[in-house]
Amino acid sequence: MTSSSPTFNLEHDVVYGAAERLSPLVRRVTAKNPSRFTFMGTGTYIIGNGDVAIVDPGPVDDNHVDALVAAVDGETVTHLLITHTHGDHSPAASVLQTHFDCPTVGFGPHPIDRPDPASSQSAVSEADSHSGERTSMFGFDPLPDDDAPKAESDADGYKADHANDWDFTPDVVASHGEQIGGSSWTIESLHTPGHISNHLCFALAEEQALFSGDHVMGWSTTIIPPPDGNLNSYLDSLRLLLPRSEQIYYPTHGAPITDPQVLVPALLAHRENRTAQILDCMTDGIDTIKQMVLRMYTHVVPQLYDAAGASVMSHLRALHETGAIACSDTEPGPMSVYTLS
Ligand SMILES: [Zn+2]
Repeated sequence: MTSSSPTFNLEHDVVYGAAERLSPLVRRVTAKNPSRFTFMGTGTYIIGNGDVAIVDPGPVDDNHVDALVAAVDGETVTHLLITHTHGDHSPAASVLQTHFDCPTVGFGPHPIDRPDPASSQSAVSEADSHSGERTSMFGFDPLPDDDAPKAESDADGYKADHANDWDFTPDVVASHGEQIGGSSWTIESLHTPGHISNHLCFALAEEQALFSGDHVMGWSTTIIPPPDGNLNSYLDSLRLLLPRSEQIYYPTHGAPITDPQVLVPALLAHRENRTAQILDCMTDGIDTIKQMVLRMYTHVVPQLYDAAGASVMSHLRALHETGAIACSDTEPGPMSVYTLS
């Protein structure tokens, strides 16, 4: 740990099924889909009063949709703003459009083609054997049986919550810098790829606020899932925020971030430190993800080794992309051998 390590906030009391007023222009309705990856659940934001925009409708969940519809009773929903096409963010947009005659706004459809059914079957069985039999893709030793159920449900939570929304296509394509307005609010779209290449943040000018989606969260670092997640893009998207003046961020998961001018530089420094540690590993001849995790994550329980391995792999993919390192396979993989270029 260094002084620049991000400080995460795990205090987050939410009321499910009702709108919570967070500011004069911002309300939040939280879906009851808590997990290791969604924290307390998806926070859906309502911007404005009278004519309103909704940010990230969330998963298709009747109670959540009913709560959103009730929250805006008597108001006019003018836009459904989508930060990105993961399963805990965009799917309920189509359901809300049966209630509200308004367009969806997003950067674009899912960046990866929907797998064809024949190959998705093999992908599912691969994932099942990964979670069910507790084999580690990075070659870690199997966990004792007592630890398996928790790890298994974590894997299931990951699949459910970060499932891709293949069906979403925005009615209105928002490019970087585009402005959308209501009678009392003005939103600027910011393209912030990294977690996924179609990620947008939305800046609310009247309150110096940013709806940061999964790009910046106060309770956890952001996962950079392959193949579309890209750490180099993610770091550029963090740097994009550095000169901006928003004083509060509303992430889709977790409490509002009241010190973004401290947190964003700390998140950047955290990743840069990790990259330096990984390069140090390779200088010392430590050349597999498994060995790098065992050296760098001494404070972490074995149940989290695979998650740590996934994070290390996102750094190695970024270093490989820039030509800083070489690997034994065509593309960086979980069992590849890594060397400095
Ligand atoms: Zn996501």
